[in-house]
Amino acid sequence: MNLKDKIRVIEDFPKEGISFKDITTLLQDGKAYKEAIDLCIKELEGKEFDIIVAPEARGFLVGAPLAYATNKGFVPVRKPGKLPYETIKYEYELEYGMDALEIHKDAVKSGQKVIIVDDLLATGGTTLSTIKLVEKLGAEVVGVLFLIELTFLDGRNTLKDYNVMSLIKY
Ligand code: 5GP
Repeated sequence: MNLKDKIRVIEDFPKEGISFKDITTLLQDGKAYKEAIDLCIKELEGKEFDIIVAPEARGFLVGAPLAYATNKGFVPVRKPGKLPYETIKYEYELEYGMDALEIHKDAVKSGQKVIIVDDLLATGGTTLSTIKLVEKLGAEVVGVLFLIELTFLDGRNTLKDYNVMSLIKY
């Protein structure tokens, strides 16, 4: 199956000039969703890791089934104010203004090996912020995995100190 055919491309969403990769069409196709997760499992084969961390919201759709399939724990990274227990925060710059992500302060332990997953790698800003949170807690990021990579935005360069894996490239 060509998984790329299952992704719907929406021009000028959420704003003009952006060619948005809509994964809902892949998710609603049971065979395609399963194949995508199976390919992610293959990417992780032979890698030693303790836990999977994913940013909201689409990262959960990849991270949760992967955690189940690999028998590992799952940790959500969320926008401020969503997590109920004590958190640490990482603030990062957007094109206009600032944004932030949070993680529970006891979500990963010092020395744990972490895989970060998300649906899509664009500039790498979201993943780098997630990495900073994980590293602040003393854990080690041993790989970052995406369904989709927008190679022309060079997120790989932003993440050049890390092992970057992706299934579908544009
Ligand atoms: P980055 O931080 O790498 O620039 O952007 C990646 C983040 O934005 C991911 O969390 C991803 O969910 C979201 N994102 C940006 N562009 C797209 C897109 O075209 N399609 C999807 N599905 N997500 C996108």
